[in-house]
Amino acid sequence: MEKYIEQTLKALEKNNMQAVYVEKKSDIIDAVKEFLPKGSSVAVGGSVTLDESGVIDLIRNGDYVFYDRYAPNLTAEQTNEVFVKSLSADVFLMSSNAITKNGELYNVDGRSNRVAPLVFGPKSVVVVAGKNKIVENIAEAVLRVKTIAAPLNAKRLNCNTYCAKVGKCVSLSTDNPEMSAGCGSDARICCNYVVSAMQRTKNRIKVIICGEDLGY
Ligand code: SF4
Repeated sequence: MEKYIEQTLKALEKNNMQAVYVEKKSDIIDAVKEFLPKGSSVAVGGSVTLDESGVIDLIRNGDYVFYDRYAPNLTAEQTNEVFVKSLSADVFLMSSNAITKNGELYNVDGRSNRVAPLVFGPKSVVVVAGKNKIVENIAEAVLRVKTIAAPLNAKRLNCNTYCAKVGKCVSLSTDNPEMSAGCGSDARICCNYVVSAMQRTKNRIKVIICGEDLGY
């Protein structure tokens, strides 16, 4: 394991988050299963990582009660009901926009159905992230979202934002881009900025870091 990954795992543990390392993408399913008792209710935050690693397929295999935000033909109202129900799921699965070497998770959300269950509600939160999500500190995490995560997600979700077209946040064209500075689009995906630092409930949050790159 590379030194900076080891350092990050230790820092997460120090912040009362259970930290697990897996070498390959193909090891993720077994690691996730350890935190998913059969029959538990499960919800997910939107994540390319969960798709790429096969976790979405896993929770569709019938062993779990999946509050499925991706079920076909959901109306906007039904999707919202799934998001509200997700707050009471036994397990909430997501990735993270960035993880600092100081053991913090950094997440920026538009609708905020991802950051809400991260901070409160589900008994257990399982975060899956590739090593590409590890950054030095919060300043680097902020930049990572403005230059990588938000532009690529905005493009994937067909959001009419500056970053989807140009590939970086509009705030970077100003002299002093504050964390929360950004566009005025109705489709803005950066509305709530959440740093998860030391947790009171030990190991409620589990972080699985993979030695390969995943998602963005
Ligand atoms: S604030 Fe707007 S332009 Fe900036 S990254 Fe977020 S969605 Fe993109």
